[in-house]
Amino acid sequence: MDVFEIDTVVIGAGVVGLAIARALAIAGHETLILEKNAVFGEETSARNSEVIHAGIYYDAGSAKARHCVAGKHRLYDYCARAGISHRRCGKLIVATDAAESIRLEGIAAGAAANGVDDLEFLDGARAVAMEPALSVDSALLSPSTGIVDSHALMLAYLGEAEAHDAQLVTHSPIGGGSLREDGRIDLAVGGDAPMRLVARHVVNAGGLWAQDVAAGIAGLPAPPGRVLVKGSYFALTGRAPFTRLIYPVPVDGGLGVHLTLDMAGRAKFGPDTQWLESDDPADVDYTVDPARSETFHDAIRRYWPALPDGALAADYAGVRPKVSGDAYPDFRIEGPEVHGLAGHVMLYGIESPGLTASLSIADEVLAKLQS
Ligand SMILES: Cc1cc2nc3c(=O)[nH]c(=O)nc-3n(C[C@H](O)[C@H](O)[C@H](O)COP(=O)(O)OP(=O)(O)OC[C@H]3O[C@@H](n4cnc5c(N)ncnc54)[C@H](O)[C@@H]3O)c2cc1C
Repeated sequence: MDVFEIDTVVIGAGVVGLAIARALAIAGHETLILEKNAVFGEETSARNSEVIHAGIYYDAGSAKARHCVAGKHRLYDYCARAGISHRRCGKLIVATDAAESIRLEGIAAGAAANGVDDLEFLDGARAVAMEPALSVDSALLSPSTGIVDSHALMLAYLGEAEAHDAQLVTHSPIGGGSLREDGRIDLAVGGDAPMRLVARHVVNAGGLWAQDVAAGIAGLPAPPGRVLVKGSYFALTGRAPFTRLIYPVPVDGGLGVHLTLDMAGRAKFGPDTQWLESDDPADVDYTVDPARSETFHDAIRRYWPALPDGALAADYAGVRPKVSGDAYPDFRIEGPEVHGLAGHVMLYGIESPGLTASLSIADEVLAKLQS
């Protein structure tokens, strides 16, 4: 079997892997992106809400809060420079009664602790003046929330990485490997023409599969546990009477049934929260059960009473890869400071807001590889 030597391998060509590959290539790393699927960005990066999150809900001091807020600013600048379709449409978090209105104050305080200082309280009349189809007691306006064409974004990251000599190789599943005595990692790359790669730097951006990738490399510390949480979407058939994203006050374990818009103006509700029994990504069934729309109707009518009957159509689903065992599952970006192995970075639990945070996460990975 042929053995190739390379400076840097990024495993996984989702939005985070591609952002990392771009940053590494620009910094001068000889970079190879290995992707098991036929094309890039087919998994979680193609199954999300495409929202540029403001950074409102995450625990202060968490990696999610830090990377979301920094990533949001970086992403708006990047999209403007690279000509990527996006819209700073804003979002309303709506309270439907006095008790929920009080909870908005806590949400605003949490956001301020994360450095999100542009939220504005609206009384019911002002909120309804902005979005006349709403029926609400009050609302919080987040002007810096937006939407982005995530496929165009990935294409731009890849294009820039390639312009700096990075290469994407698809149909290339990492089948395992081992840590060598010299600190490099020996990778077995499957596919039609199996080969061995010896890499000085390995970045594991395998998304749902990141734990499997790490567990398959002998000599790496055991990865953290994983729990998979499915989120189903229902598309609104017909035109949405909203110009901003509409979120209810969060419910336990999720953000509640919210409305997002895409760049084509299509509206969808979701994702909901369904904890999967199996923690194996191979068991995931992405089919959306139409019966789940029942709970959607009731939740939506609390803030949009005129939602027509039968207006929701089962759409698509995505799966969040949460690190298990933590009270507050955060991003885990593990470099030498965690596992003691210079030159390698493992990313776990990169659920939302990973798209928003992608450029900021890439900066951290680059810094860890260069430390
Ligand atoms: C329902 C849902 C809604 C979301 N909404 C938003 C949102 O609105 N805004 C936001 O900021 N974030 C959102 N997110 C989060 C965001 O989508 C993810 O954080 C992001 O897409 C993760 O990108 P990734 O590159 O880490 O993973 P992925 O996109 O999953 O990419 C990982 C890649 O690794 C490849 N791979 C895996 N194993 C191997 C192997 N052995 N060999 C080679 N390749 C391998 C896979 O094929 C895949 O292409 C949402 C997530 C979900 C689930």
